[in-house]
Amino acid sequence: MQKKTVAFSKDSSNLFFHILTRCNLACSHCYINREQHGENTLDIATIKQWLALFAGRNQTGDSPEKEAGDDYGSGLESGAMNVVFLGGEPTLHKDLALAVKEARRLGFKSITIDTNGYLFHDILDRVTPDEVDFISFSLDGATKKTNDAIRGEGCYHTCLKGIKEAVAKGFDTSMIYTVSQANLGELEMMPELVSKLGIQRFFIQVIGIRGESVEEGDGLQVSRENWLDIVPAVAEEIAASGIIVTYPKVFLDGEEPFQCAGTVADNYFVFPNARVYRCPVCEDYPLHSLEIQENRLVKTGRVNEADLFNLTIPEGCVMNKLVQPGNLAYHDDNTPKHRIACCMLKQEVRQIT
Ligand code: SF4
Ligand code: SF4
Repeated sequence: MQKKTVAFSKDSSNLFFHILTRCNLACSHCYINREQHGENTLDIATIKQWLALFAGRNQTGDSPEKEAGDDYGSGLESGAMNVVFLGGEPTLHKDLALAVKEARRLGFKSITIDTNGYLFHDILDRVTPDEVDFISFSLDGATKKTNDAIRGEGCYHTCLKGIKEAVAKGFDTSMIYTVSQANLGELEMMPELVSKLGIQRFFIQVIGIRGESVEEGDGLQVSRENWLDIVPAVAEEIAASGIIVTYPKVFLDGEEPFQCAGTVADNYFVFPNARVYRCPVCEDYPLHSLEIQENRLVKTGRVNEADLFNLTIPEGCVMNKLVQPGNLAYHDDNTPKHRIACCMLKQEVRQIT
């Protein structure tokens, strides 16, 4: 078994492209905040323009001192950029297939569709396994009872049916399981379930206290003890069946260095109201450091997320402390018992063949 921390890299960029915020479901922990990101659905012409915009970017030489309104970056090799189509539910967009084909034409390194499994507009018949690298399905429980309590009645069966259809048509598929107190107990049942599905990758996410989760707040967050007791062991068990497993580091070990992806990685979370975030934990606030204006990517005025990225605090991630402190713990003298890693720092476990 090989286990490694996936280092942040400037050589690889990720575009998380929310082409709409509309969804057929109303998951209790939905992270989409429509107050912040609107209800707009991008038309295909705009989607193509924005894909081309990111396909042509190169942020590495960009100066952080640029003022609001300045153009941002120039000329990234699109071959180094991955795109993930998101919503809401992206398959509700009638032109998702055209968006995928355009991303392929522009030479994106990989193309993924994240779906709740409902697969609207016959998407599996309108794109091919050569055009899409991964179709990623969200399931949040090993049983119908737990999954459907979070995601809604009927979602469990629909998701598993969608995976089976995608696998039968030759698509590479993955699954995303978002861990919270509501379903941590069923993670240990997932190795048996996923080993029969024919998926290639399994992503464990940790609940973010944003969007709909804010109401339940800290009660959903998982303690360090529970996380470390369960998640790494389940990851290894699933990896033993040949599936590559990725999960967020969340809690930094001992002297492990802290790094903020906002300063050392190229991630872009794009919303249909033209906001562009570098940090997903900031998405509940108008803290986006970039926006798209007249088909140009420009910096926003201060204060924004970029002002937080270089702050150093003993707890690690600043935004975690501000918006989801339920995973922190302190000694009697108020020093933190552990530090929180950047939410983008991942562990990957795979079988060595
Ligand atoms: S499927 Fe995704 S976008 Fe839709 S309600 Fe659930 S979490 Fe939100
Ligand atoms: S999650 Fe924290 S460490 Fe990661 S990009 Fe956001 S502010 Fe930076």
